[in-house]
Amino acid sequence: MQVASQIPGVKHVIAVSSAKGGVGKSTVAMNLAVTLSLQGLKVGLMDADVYGPSVPKMLGAQEPPVSHDGEMVEPASAHGVKAMSMGFLVDDDTPMVWRGPMVLSALKQMLFQTNWAPLDVLVLDMPPGTGDSQLSIAQQVSLAGAVVVSTPQDIALLDARKGVTMFNKVNVPIMGFVENMSHFICPHCGGESHIFDHGGARKAAEEMGVPFLTEIPLDINLRQFSDEGKPVVIHAPDSKEAEAFKVLGQKVQDFLQEQEAQNDQPIKIVIE
Ligand code: ADP
Repeated sequence: MQVASQIPGVKHVIAVSSAKGGVGKSTVAMNLAVTLSLQGLKVGLMDADVYGPSVPKMLGAQEPPVSHDGEMVEPASAHGVKAMSMGFLVDDDTPMVWRGPMVLSALKQMLFQTNWAPLDVLVLDMPPGTGDSQLSIAQQVSLAGAVVVSTPQDIALLDARKGVTMFNKVNVPIMGFVENMSHFICPHCGGESHIFDHGGARKAAEEMGVPFLTEIPLDINLRQFSDEGKPVVIHAPDSKEAEAFKVLGQKVQDFLQEQEAQNDQPIKIVIE
């Protein structure tokens, strides 16, 4: 069996995952990374979603990564976050035709041939789904935990449950569920609508015995800011969305601190 490796100089690697595309996984990964950086951590963001790399655009990174020796790559950087993505290396209009082994080798290079160190946390924006690519990432790199992003409606949550099962299989702890597009506040009348239902992820988390982390509203500003490469947590720090990301950042930090404390526990020698 393959043993997952540590990345030198990187304390924790966490995965932000979703069982299907379009639920806001990359939005959550990017804003979580920037939030953790604003909260004082040294943070990296790796776009493992090689089929639809969106990190460069969302993060608004201007300068692409560079390599001085043809071996190791200096990651890009924006808003204090180091970033790496296939999206930096190919232009938006070039379709990428990947075969399984190519995906794995691209992911390995981004993980292990990028000068990430020193980092407190590397956030992985996982490919959507619960298949081979996700499993091979979990086998390559030692993951401290996974955040599962879902929209609230039943059909999305069915898939999100599969995500939990997959991480359980590879012994990656689930940090918890994030409910994205949780509710919509009308910018005109202030009324709240539940376009994709509401509260489903909290309920599913309770049923599965995993923590519920935060709920992020469906908001046009968040979409516009993301498309313009402006993290909402920086450009609208007092918004409901930014508040939701602060809560998420704090919970992720608490989780990682707890893990560190457990790892630091002295080994007890029991003499019988
Ligand atoms: P995924 O990574 O799951 O495919 P993305 O993060 O790329 O999803 O989000 C898909 C689209 O939905 C993007 O245009 C993004 O700006 C938008 N989006 C994500 N979350 C929200 C939200 N809470 N409110 C409004 N738009 C959102």
